[in-house]
Amino acid sequence: MRKDDGGGGRSINLALSKRGVSALEVAGVSRDVLEFALPMRARMIHDLDGQTNRQPYHPNPQKYINSISRSGLNIVLLNAAEKYPNVHLQFGHKCKGMDLKSGTLFLENESNGHTIEVNNGPVFATDGAGSPLRDSLVAQVPGATESVDYLEYGYKELTLEALPDGNFAFAPEVLHIWPRGHFMLIALPNPDFTFTCTLFLPYEGEQSFAKLTNQASIEAFFQEFFGDLLPHKPDLVEEFLANPTGKLGTVRCKPWHYEDKLVLLGDAAHAVVPFYGQGMNASFEDCVVMNELMRDDNTAWAERFAKFSEQRIENANAIADLALYNFIEMRDYTADPVFALKRKAEVLLEEKFPEDFASKYSMVSFTNLPYRYAQLRGDLQDRILMEICGQISDLGTFDAATTLARIERESEGLAVH
Ligand SMILES: Cc1cc2nc3c(=O)[nH]c(=O)nc-3n(C[C@H](O)[C@H](O)[C@H](O)COP(=O)(O)OP(=O)(O)OC[C@H]3O[C@@H](n4cnc5c(N)ncnc54)[C@H](O)[C@@H]3O)c2cc1C
Repeated sequence: MRKDDGGGGRSINLALSKRGVSALEVAGVSRDVLEFALPMRARMIHDLDGQTNRQPYHPNPQKYINSISRSGLNIVLLNAAEKYPNVHLQFGHKCKGMDLKSGTLFLENESNGHTIEVNNGPVFATDGAGSPLRDSLVAQVPGATESVDYLEYGYKELTLEALPDGNFAFAPEVLHIWPRGHFMLIALPNPDFTFTCTLFLPYEGEQSFAKLTNQASIEAFFQEFFGDLLPHKPDLVEEFLANPTGKLGTVRCKPWHYEDKLVLLGDAAHAVVPFYGQGMNASFEDCVVMNELMRDDNTAWAERFAKFSEQRIENANAIADLALYNFIEMRDYTADPVFALKRKAEVLLEEKFPEDFASKYSMVSFTNLPYRYAQLRGDLQDRILMEICGQISDLGTFDAATTLARIERESEGLAVH
């Protein structure tokens, strides 16, 4: 990674939010990472006519998400890890699975094909969404379950170059969204004044990857739906045809551990679709929770792992659901007038009552509240605010204090874990 482009074939940049930053602080590397981060303080909605509408994430400009480079982040983490004398980095070895009973891990040396057996204490499996160690767990633990649900959508990344004068092609400090009903395109800024765009599109159907196979179809599609991008993308067709189409899926499994031998963390345990920008943040939060459990020297590994599974599975399922729902919100609702009014109402409530109100987005992105709580309370708030905003045409008649009182009344007794 530190020798080649390091991108790992996946998204070039990522949205880092509060949970991720909190974890990086615990690891002592937040400054190193935030040094190359770009703030994103709002969504910028691009309609079909090229008109834009800026929707701030929060009235407090200090609450924002960060666009960070995936490879930059990985390099900071690798550099930090190898400074520990008891950390040994072993590249070029592929994990093939594990015999759980004996605790033996099987690694294949990729240069000579030899298998190495390692039996060295607890294994923390962070081998990603396609985790062979999750496969071992599900195959060998009676009653263990897993589901891997792919969306009927794929994604394709495209780079938007800087303008000839060196500036960003679109406004910086925002996450750009082109919502188009059942599909959408987003763009996150990079420090070199480029944007990384991601097109989320069905594999099949009238507007789909299946239809975008040649210059004419790609150009016509972008002309119709993303016309304001075209002048900035002279190499569109070449890049579109050259870049791979990625898969999007949700992984759920239970349990996440086996005795004191194995525990799954990150995408290996709970890959989520990327529409809340939380997969990495949730994975870093796993590390914080595990770190806390490891502070207690009197607790055995098996007990730590059991507590970890218990605490995290419910929250991982919540962010998986929130992320799936946010896709619908981003592609369908961000352009809807009632939704836009509701966003304004949320911002007003957050401005007037910063201690008592946080939108669902804020709870997920700007706090460390459990995801499950953010989901329950957020759903309740959304229902109430959509109902009120459906009955008014602007915020002139919006009664913030009465609305907050209703939200608090109806959310009394909401379970927090
Ligand atoms: C398009 C897209 C956009 C995203 N955007 C965001 C975002 O904005 N914000 C956010 O928080 N999250 C985002 N995510 C999610 C984020 O990428 C993941 O949640 C995060 O990378 C999970 O980290 P991880 O370490 O658990 O797994 P990974 O990052 O997948 O790392 C797994 C590692 O294990 C290695 N590995 C895999 N198999 C083996 C094996 N058999 N043997 C040895 N090593 C192995 C891999 O090479 C890799 O290094 C996005 C994901 C996608 C696909």
